[in-house]
Amino acid sequence: MTQKLTQITERVCLWPYHQDPNQIQPCIGVIPGDRGTVLVDAGNCLTAARQLKWALERANLPPVSRIIYTHHHWDHVYGACVFEVPAVAHRLCRDILLEEVEKPWGSKYLEDEIKKNSLLQVSYEARDRLIGDWENFRIVVPEIVFDGSMVVETGEMKIVLQHVGGEHAQDSIVVKVPQAGVMFLGDCFYPPPLHLRKPDSTISIPLLASLEDETYALYVDGHSEPFTRDELLAFLEKEGSDSSMISE
Ligand SMILES: [Zn+2]
Repeated sequence: MTQKLTQITERVCLWPYHQDPNQIQPCIGVIPGDRGTVLVDAGNCLTAARQLKWALERANLPPVSRIIYTHHHWDHVYGACVFEVPAVAHRLCRDILLEEVEKPWGSKYLEDEIKKNSLLQVSYEARDRLIGDWENFRIVVPEIVFDGSMVVETGEMKIVLQHVGGEHAQDSIVVKVPQAGVMFLGDCFYPPPLHLRKPDSTISIPLLASLEDETYALYVDGHSEPFTRDELLAFLEKEGSDSSMISE
């Protein structure tokens, strides 16, 4: 399936998540403003990020000026080096990526790590398959960090970043665009990633419930279709007796 830049509300676009779960490609938020286009996450590989870059050029959107990381996981971060702009994230995200950047990423390293811990196999094999070109790859460590919350302005568009943490990743933030009524959730309410997941791990209903806000009509998480506030309210009312919404 070819991915397509899609307008989801006035002034906000989305590069949708890949429906093939083997691609582990989360969605990327695209917020054009007078001072450049801000991305919410960067995609999981150079190929995906390049495809998005071309799509932005074809759509005549302003050049990318900032990338906001919703959290440090590779599938949200590895595409960033294609854009050569500063990244913004929670302070913990920078701390984690400063350690990650020191590792000798490449096929051999990934293979050796899988031998030491077989729970890493799914994630590490996917990284090797999707990056392929390790020569041109580098992890972009965030230059701009914050603790509780922060506002990024791109012209008249105001983007509010708020740390929420959670079981999936301690550095998770949500990205709110009040003028467009959209909130990007990253993976914040998901259970921990596969290699850290326990049998009773589930999505966090309390975290999701705490984010419901009448200012935002649309909610976008990392690995599924955007949902409306009405859908969120209906889901919360059902009190999430099943957790089938979630994959990665
Ligand atoms: Zn994640």
